[in-house]
Amino acid sequence: MKIALLPGDGIGKEILAEAVRILEVLRGEGVAIETEAASVGGAAYDECGEPLPAATLALARDADAVLFGAVGGPQYDTLPRDKRPEKAILGLRQECDFFANLRPATVFPELAGASTLKPEVVSGLDIMIVRELTGDIYFGQPRGISGEKGSRVGFNTMHYTEAQIRRILHVGFRTARARGGRLTSVDKMNVLETTQLWRDIAEEIAPEYPDVTLSHILVDNCAMQLVRNPRQFDVIVTGNMFGDILSDEASMLTGSIGMLPSASLDAEGKGLYEPIHGSAPDIAGKGLANPLAQILSMAMMFRYTFGRADLAARIETAVRRALASGLRTADIAEPGTKPCSTAEMGTAVLKAL
Ligand code: NAD
Repeated sequence: MKIALLPGDGIGKEILAEAVRILEVLRGEGVAIETEAASVGGAAYDECGEPLPAATLALARDADAVLFGAVGGPQYDTLPRDKRPEKAILGLRQECDFFANLRPATVFPELAGASTLKPEVVSGLDIMIVRELTGDIYFGQPRGISGEKGSRVGFNTMHYTEAQIRRILHVGFRTARARGGRLTSVDKMNVLETTQLWRDIAEEIAPEYPDVTLSHILVDNCAMQLVRNPRQFDVIVTGNMFGDILSDEASMLTGSIGMLPSASLDAEGKGLYEPIHGSAPDIAGKGLANPLAQILSMAMMFRYTFGRADLAARIETAVRRALASGLRTADIAEPGTKPCSTAEMGTAVLKAL
């Protein structure tokens, strides 16, 4: 298992260090893990003037999986767009064709109180959002702003090829097959032709997966159902823009940004695994960050790239045990209780493992 370690900036370094401690333990048990680290984002810009240096990209390409921390920081906000740290993530997605974004929204029973929704609505929530990353209105041409001030026109093009739709829907079906067997495809077919094509193709593919129940929902209704009764969903599959919005909505059901992992996969199952949060400059260097999103991203790596659901489940169980022991980093601590440090949480997961 060749794993590229790209810690990035801010808390990225601190949380990835905790995941690496777990990798060391697994390696000690005889799991064949090879790791190599490289700088990315602002750290790479500081070193060589590029957020995604050629050597880092080569390492990522050569690896089976990339374990990514987070990038960004206020000191880089005034750089030209192509030098900004976030450019590294887009570059990696594009260069490695990571087209399928998997974002689970899971509520651990111990943390049900952290959500802004009532515990009885979110307790036990376990949904997976599969979002397409390379097409849609974010990339379609033509795009732009034209005309003179006073009569300007802004325009973007929603665009999907049949091949792009097919490959993400297959990821959706396969993901549903490996979970609860229910797939909800999200579109806006009553208004947008592109998404009518999406729905037609979903129907075409469905017979290939007789063990998966396919249903369709309009995006506006889906947004509503996610806060009304989120537990009705198992796997949701959707395009780039709807997925962008719905996955953020779903993440907030869980209450803490520091708990949520993600995966971006290519057609062969190679992937980039990262927490959904950023580099949190406000708490960087203080030992306050929650390392669990990073550790759970690593669990996803074992499940989706390496086919080691056993190791994934072990890590996830260890995280649950660490939470059950009462330890909380500041982001998930109840008011008035004493939060633990990044390293203390990492140690608790290691012990439970
Ligand atoms: P952020 O996710 O970094 O932080 C938002 C809030 O959540 C902050 O208060 C932060 O302290 C808290 N937080 C985030 N992760 C946490 C954790 N693991 N434990 C405890 N608290 C945590 O978002 P932001 O502040 O909007 O952005 C900061 C920088 O990160 C920006 O430069 C942004 O561009 C970048 N960013 C990077 C990524 C990425 O690398 N994938 C994603 C989003 C934002």
